[in-house]
Amino acid sequence: MSQATLFYLANLLIYGAVDVIACLGLSMQFGVAGISNFGYIIFQSAGAYTAAVLSLPHDTANGGFQSYIGGFGLPFPIPLLGATVVGGLVALPFAILVGRRLTGHVAAIGLLVTAVMANLLVTNFVPLFNGAAGLSVVPQPLQNLLNPQTQTYQWIYGAVGAVIAVLVYLLFRRITESPYGRSMRAMRDNSVVANALGKDLLSMRTAMLVLGGMAAGLSGGILVGFITLWDPGAWGYAETIVLFAAIIIGGTGNHKGAILGAILVPVGFEEATRFIPSSLGPPGMIPALQWVAIGLLIVGFLWFRPQGIIPEPRRRIFARAQARLAHARGDQSPQATLATAASPPSGSPAASGGAILSTEGVVVSFSDVRAVDGVSISVGRGRLTGLIGPNGAGKSTLLAALAGTVPIAEGRIIFDGQDVSRVPAYLRARLGLVRTFQLASEFKRLTVVENLLSAVPAQSGDTLRGALRGRRYWEHDELEAIEEARDLMDHFGLLEYADSYAGNLSGGQRRLVEIMRAIMAKPKLLLLDEPMAGIHPTLARTIGRHLQTLCAQGMTILLVEHELGFMDEFCDPVIVLAEGRVLAEGTMGELRGQSEVVEAYLVG
Ligand code: ADP
Ligand code: MG
Repeated sequence: MSQATLFYLANLLIYGAVDVIACLGLSMQFGVAGISNFGYIIFQSAGAYTAAVLSLPHDTANGGFQSYIGGFGLPFPIPLLGATVVGGLVALPFAILVGRRLTGHVAAIGLLVTAVMANLLVTNFVPLFNGAAGLSVVPQPLQNLLNPQTQTYQWIYGAVGAVIAVLVYLLFRRITESPYGRSMRAMRDNSVVANALGKDLLSMRTAMLVLGGMAAGLSGGILVGFITLWDPGAWGYAETIVLFAAIIIGGTGNHKGAILGAILVPVGFEEATRFIPSSLGPPGMIPALQWVAIGLLIVGFLWFRPQGIIPEPRRRIFARAQARLAHARGDQSPQATLATAASPPSGSPAASGGAILSTEGVVVSFSDVRAVDGVSISVGRGRLTGLIGPNGAGKSTLLAALAGTVPIAEGRIIFDGQDVSRVPAYLRARLGLVRTFQLASEFKRLTVVENLLSAVPAQSGDTLRGALRGRRYWEHDELEAIEEARDLMDHFGLLEYADSYAGNLSGGQRRLVEIMRAIMAKPKLLLLDEPMAGIHPTLARTIGRHLQTLCAQGMTILLVEHELGFMDEFCDPVIVLAEGRVLAEGTMGELRGQSEVVEAYLVG
């Protein structure tokens, strides 16, 4: 190979490492946590600027031909560490955009607008970052020990970049394969449901913004140390689109896809088009066509192969856990290490009497409708209470208000001796107040067992710190939870689907997954919204009996159901809701004797 070719290959290695690190970070945000960060490139830019000024001498040193902040003349690897830290710090304020209020598309547009504004500000406001001129003659790492013009230097640079990329990959994999990573994928699939199961969306999204920002900053630092220039014009918002194209084409939500995409799109695609002779058309036509091609590639993939070239792998954690347990049993005593997995009853055993939940004049309004209009109820501890009423009576809204999914306009909610009226949904879940949803709400791209595990409270691996401590730290808890999930899946006949995607099951099976998931949360009070819809009556009775057993063990359940036969058999008392108000309360027998109830509901 000629010298020129070798130089070119070393170059590709460096660009490849930079793009792989950037794509891994974006994939964590978009593919794993479901955050559409259209401003991603500004974190790379910030990291590059930081690395530049950390390695540049004071700005008067070169005759003061360019001005910048500081100029510290620090040696490798400090500029790279600085780039990483600043990339994360710059991401921090954006947590507001992805917090509780602005989510989804709105947050995505907010981030895009911010990226455009930041770019305009930097290029046009000269005193800040030297305007459009940017920075040049950025020192290269260790340039006084090795000559950057040599091929050896370039290969070493590329190798260091590749090693850093591998380390980032290993770090991110550690996170995504942990219970914390599972929580993020649950949030991506359905954030409202994840919130109702106790996931703190703001904290998880902030963590992913910062972590992705750090990866972007680091990649920018590596890049600027190689090209020795920081040109704000090169970091237009559209560059983010190239990275999005990469992870969509490679495969979102999995690191290998991000790596493949980084090699195919920013490196491969842009390099390949360099070989098209520029005499083919007017100047600037080929770069312009590149953008068209990238756009077409994104659309084409989203249309024909949305999962990308390498799809997100299905995690067969149940089969793997069974193999591990069998192994443990074979090697050790007949009593497996985890034989204690039988679910302990939550709360105190059927302490009958007393209310676990009471409300006073709860009101929920949607613009002009008072969906819940002054409801005062109390739910007895350890009972299976029914909630009935005609369509639109406000049953679902009441459950949502109790769980904190919708805010209440007036009134108070007292749960287990505590006023939770203003407590956010995820904290109510952690206090033991867990709801299910009337509409299908399984996490589609999580397997059945992952759905169940996602609800387990206070898992040791379900924090960023726990995840970083590694599998050895959280595996014991995880295997215990899997054993518990196995008993439940066995009971409801879904064991064979443990490692199947929940989204691929039948409607009835998905309802079962939701019920099991709620039970895995070990709530003190479980709010079930028409759980039996679409389930065969025989199975519905099995579920009813199981719910009764749970109540006997100390759980309290409030259940909305249309099927009055179910109410007759299992629920006592039953509350009747009509037009947002409590109409009556009593056993089904008593209710059938009340003419206004019969008129409002039982007949109509
Ligand atoms: P139920 O569960 O008893 O059938 P809901 O609680 O779903 O009744 O609805 C009660 C009333 O509130 C209905 O009139 C419904 O149209 C209205 N409603 C429910 N959710 C919303 C919403 N998100 N926005 C506006 N109106 C709503
Ligand atoms: Mg409803």
